[in-house]
Amino acid sequence: MDYFLTEDQRDLLTGLEKTLEPFDDAYWLDHDRSGEFPEEFYQAMAQGGWLGIATPEEMGGGGLGVVEAALMMEAVAKKGGMTAASAIHVNIFGPGSLMKHASEDQQRRWVQPLLTGQQRMCFGVTEANVGLDTTRLKTRAVKDGNKYVINGAKCWTTTAQVSDKIMLLARTDGRDDKNPTGGLSMFYTDLDRSAVDIRKIEKMGRHAVDTNELFITDLEVPPEDLVGEEGMGFRYIIDSLNPERILVAIEAIGIATSALERAVAYAKERVVFERPIGMNQSIQHPLADGWARLEAARLLCLKAAALSDAGQPCGVEANAAKYLAAETGMDVVRTAMATHGGMGYAREFHIERYFREMAIPYLVPVSQQLALCFVAERGLGLPKSY
Ligand SMILES: Cc1cc2nc3c(=O)[nH]c(=O)nc-3n(C[C@H](O)[C@H](O)[C@H](O)COP(=O)(O)OP(=O)(O)OC[C@H]3O[C@@H](n4cnc5c(N)ncnc54)[C@H](O)[C@@H]3O)c2cc1C
Repeated sequence: MDYFLTEDQRDLLTGLEKTLEPFDDAYWLDHDRSGEFPEEFYQAMAQGGWLGIATPEEMGGGGLGVVEAALMMEAVAKKGGMTAASAIHVNIFGPGSLMKHASEDQQRRWVQPLLTGQQRMCFGVTEANVGLDTTRLKTRAVKDGNKYVINGAKCWTTTAQVSDKIMLLARTDGRDDKNPTGGLSMFYTDLDRSAVDIRKIEKMGRHAVDTNELFITDLEVPPEDLVGEEGMGFRYIIDSLNPERILVAIEAIGIATSALERAVAYAKERVVFERPIGMNQSIQHPLADGWARLEAARLLCLKAAALSDAGQPCGVEANAAKYLAAETGMDVVRTAMATHGGMGYAREFHIERYFREMAIPYLVPVSQQLALCFVAERGLGLPKSY
């Protein structure tokens, strides 16, 4: 599968395996049960230098690209599912926007504490009444003397319960139909609990990594926490969206690969009607189909990542990879459940956890429909449909 990886990339994955080794299935199952953030895992990844894999070396990072970040997140998701991936995910793609658009002083203040695990960030873009139509965000930042005062609400903000900082998109100017992406600004600031009420959303899976509603009342933000220029926030966010899609896509592939391997092992050993169930073509074919489609989705992910690293447009490939990986991932975990029969529903076999967690890359960070809208418009030249 990995014939095209360089020697360095193989070494990287071998090193990563050592960091991941202590965090076995029991660890992830326990955390899913307790809902406790996987702090030991997070700290081990920080100490191993993995959180800064794609951050430049002069900032204390690994200086590698989206390809290496993707290989890492695939291995992380294969080991610990979406719980492991989401615990660190924003640390991997978030600093990208800061490295591109924040001043050197801001980068020094913000990026290093993220890489060492001293600080954590969350990503506040989505709003409940706006959905995917990001240009209509309503959270408002008003300049008042030498500070901004922010009011509004965010929805689905992941890891806010355990974060010190928030990367926040807020409106500093009204929406102009002639320039709908203008008027939004990016802030990177303290998640001040005295002004931000953080309420956990009860959800289907990934219980150890929280997702929240945020109600923001008079949050005071110093001008030093504005990233780049006012009104450019939407464009800055766009820079991190493609890497995020690529990482989510390959996380789906990591989880699905683990589910497939477990299903194959089970098909070999489970005997019914006096023969292994894996002798039946109705068991074999969906597994073989899953393997083939996962290989294809993975290649597309790595192509999108390589384009991104080469500074070339990669939006069509990134959206197509997220679409293909999530569709395939959903099919593969369902196949793995069917292969396990009733045991697919038992926690100890881990498939039911993957089944619940796979819904995340299916829905996030962009819906399957909108990913296809983008491919149709930008890849095929069809009229914009949204
Ligand atoms: C577990 C989880 C974690 C998340 N973490 C974060 C986070 O950390 N930070 C953050 O900012 N956000 C986060 N999100 C939000 C996530 O990115 C959004 O849920 C996602 O972008 C979809 O937005 P929505 O739910 O508002 O869907 P909506 O915009 O309400 O869309 C609903 C449905 O309508 C379809 N639809 C809408 N318009 C069209 C159209 N024109 N054509 C075709 N179909 C259309 C969509 O495809 C979708 O199927 C998270 C979500 C989840 C579930």
